Amino acid sequence: MTAEPLTPAAIRNRLRAALSTIDALYDEMLEPVSRSGQGGSNDTELNRTERIIAVREEVGYQTWATIEAICDERAIEEPTCSEYEVTTHTAWLRDHADDFATYTGATDALQEMEDCAEAITNVVFGHHRPRLALGACTITACDGTVRDAGQDDDGHQIARCTHCGTTAGVRWWAEQMRMPVRDTLTGAELIVLAHQQYGRRLTPAAIRQAVRRDMLHPIKDTRPQAFTMADCIGYLTRAS
Ligand SMILES: [Zn+2]
Repeated sequence: MTAEPLTPAAIRNRLRAALSTIDALYDEMLEPVSRSGQGGSNDTELNRTERIIAVREEVGYQTWATIEAICDERAIEEPTCSEYEVTTHTAWLRDHADDFATYTGATDALQEMEDCAEAITNVVFGHHRPRLALGACTITACDGTVRDAGQDDDGHQIARCTHCGTTAGVRWWAEQMRMPVRDTLTGAELIVLAHQQYGRRLTPAAIRQAVRRDMLHPIKDTRPQAFTMADCIGYLTRAS
């Protein structure tokens, strides 16, 4: 769509920033709430503990999956550590920033690393701004969660299961999840989808703003303005 491809140098810089955040705050997550500031008003200790466990698992999984993908593509030997040794992962990624920045999945992987950093930051500082998931994975016997994974080379919105790694167009996922799938949605229909599928309140003003900020892309010459279903789901589930 409109995103400029990132240069390897830009990817390296953003990767380093994300890794620094992960390193700095990963163990901080285990500190009691009183030390790091209270989170959302309904953030009970139990919720917080569950969230910490989920975030630690996700970060361990994502950093390890990234290392595996780079090693696979570059025929590098994988480091000898488990899926849960996050500081070993971040050290490896820092050492291999050049490989990271130039491998084929670099842009998606960068997004994952930044999402990890943001998720950790949210837990530590209580900025509760979760990324909406598309929904539960529909692959048999997988209990993963499907999340936005940016765009493929053709600019199609795609999503990936964080557990089994299945990656497909958001429209395919929506069909598997038995969402009402249409080719296009008007703004009014997008408001309904946001509410019914994601419990999110959207207003016409918010949609106009999203269009101005290039987060939603109306189909040319549609009256009333319409969007592709994939664009709508991408907008609703993308990291904000
Ligand atoms: Zn899955």
